[in-house]
Amino acid sequence: TRLDTKDALASLYAEIEYRNPAQPEFHQAVHEVLETLAPVLEARPEYAEAGLIERLCEPERQIIFRVPWQDDRGRVHVNRGFRVEFNSALGPYKGGLRFHPSVNLGIVKFLGFEQIFKNALTGLGIGGGKGGSDFDPHGRSDAEIMRFCQSFMTELYRHIGEHTDVPAGDIGVGAREIGYLFGQYRRITNRWEAGVLTGKGQGWGGSLIRPEATGYGNVLFMAAMLRERGEDLEGQTAVVSGSGNVAIYTMEKLIALGANPVTCSDSGGYVVDDKGIDVELLKQIKEVERGRVSEYAERRGASARFVPNGRVWEVPADIALPSATQNELDAKDAETLIRNGVKAVSEGANMPTTPEAVQLFQSAGVAFGPGKAANAGGVAVSALEMAQNHSRTSWTAARVEEELDRIMRDIHTTCHETAERYGAPGDYVTGANIAGFERVADAMLAQGVI
Ligand code: GLU
Repeated sequence: TRLDTKDALASLYAEIEYRNPAQPEFHQAVHEVLETLAPVLEARPEYAEAGLIERLCEPERQIIFRVPWQDDRGRVHVNRGFRVEFNSALGPYKGGLRFHPSVNLGIVKFLGFEQIFKNALTGLGIGGGKGGSDFDPHGRSDAEIMRFCQSFMTELYRHIGEHTDVPAGDIGVGAREIGYLFGQYRRITNRWEAGVLTGKGQGWGGSLIRPEATGYGNVLFMAAMLRERGEDLEGQTAVVSGSGNVAIYTMEKLIALGANPVTCSDSGGYVVDDKGIDVELLKQIKEVERGRVSEYAERRGASARFVPNGRVWEVPADIALPSATQNELDAKDAETLIRNGVKAVSEGANMPTTPEAVQLFQSAGVAFGPGKAANAGGVAVSALEMAQNHSRTSWTAARVEEELDRIMRDIHTTCHETAERYGAPGDYVTGANIAGFERVADAMLAQGVI
C-alpha cells in the first residue's frame, strides 16, 4: 500500500499544481509537505476519506484588494494588497504581513500554507494565514509609509478581528508599520481592540520579547538540535544571512550563548566580520538609521569587510542560520557549507533552503531545522501577546522568555519524537510536517466537512 499512498499523493499534488498555475513557491511548499505524509496517511485512512489534503491545500478565503496612495510629491501609486485566510481549524487565522516588491498571490499562499503547520506546532490555538503587498518601502519617507499603511488598513479592517484574523509583521513590516495599521483600524472601527494585531509597541498592548522572539527561538531550536548530538553553542562559528529583525536577534542570542556570528547581509551583498558581528552597531544602522550593511563595514574598522553581491554561505562556519528570505540557500551553497564542515542548519526565514539543498544536508548528516519548527518562536510570542491582550495584563520579559524557552523545547521534542515514531529518526522535516499535520487534521476531522 506504500506505493498506492505515494501514487495518490503524487496525483493530488499534480492536480494542485494544475489548479494553481504560476505559483512556484506555493507548489514548492505543498510538495515538501506532501512528500513526508505517506506514513501518516497509511496509519490513518480516515484522513484521506475525509478529503483532508484537498481541503488543507485550498485556502478558506483569499482576499485581493487595491491599495492606492499618494507619495510626498502628490503622485498617485497603486499597489496590490493580499490576505489569505488559509485554515482556522485550530483558532483565528494568524500570520504576518509582508511588504516587498516580490509579493504576489503565490508567495502569500506559500507563506500562509507554512503558517498552518508552524502555528499548529506551537500548541497555542492559532490558525494559519498570511498577507501583504507588493509595496516597496525602500527609500519611502515616514509620511509615505503612514499613508500606505492607512490605505492598506482601510480595506483590510473589514476582514480581521481579535477572534477572526490577527495579522502581525514580516519582511518590511515592523513596529512602525504595526503602529500605523493599528491606528487606522482603531479609527475606522471605533474599537480599542488590542488583540487584532500583534507586534504592537510597548505601552499600548505589545508584548515584551516579541521583537526578539523569532531570532531567539531559532537559536533555542538550534541549541536543542546540537544538544541531541551531544554538543552546544559554545565556541561555534555561525553564518547568519539577513540584517532585519530575525537576523539581528538571532545574532544577539547566539552571542549570549557563547557562539560567534560572523556575517550579515542585505540585497546589496554581505559583511564578514572576523571579530564577530557587533550587534549594537548593526541595530543602529539598520533599525535607527534604516541604512545598509555596507555602512556597517565602513564604520566597524579593520575586522570587517563588505562583499558586494556575494552569498554569506561561502564563509566557513560550524552552523548556519538563514534569516533573510525564501530560496536564499541553494544546492551549490549547501555543497560549499558541507565542504566547509557545517554541522547544523536552522531556518530563521520561511523556506530559505531549496529542496535540493535540504536533501544534500540530510544525506550529509547535517542536522536540519525547518522554518515551520525553528522559527515558530515569533508567532508563538504573538499568541502570548494575544493572551495578554485578552486578559488585559502584561507579563514581565522574564515570564515571556521562560514561556518561549519551553515552547521551543516542546517543538523540538515533538518533531524529534514524531520523526522517530514514523521511522525517520533525526529528520526534523518529516517530524515537523507530520506533527503539525496531525494536529490540524484531527481538529478538521472533528469539525466535519467545512
Ligand atoms: N511573520 C512571522 C512568521 O513568519 C510572525 C507571524 C505572527 O507573529 O503572526 O511566523
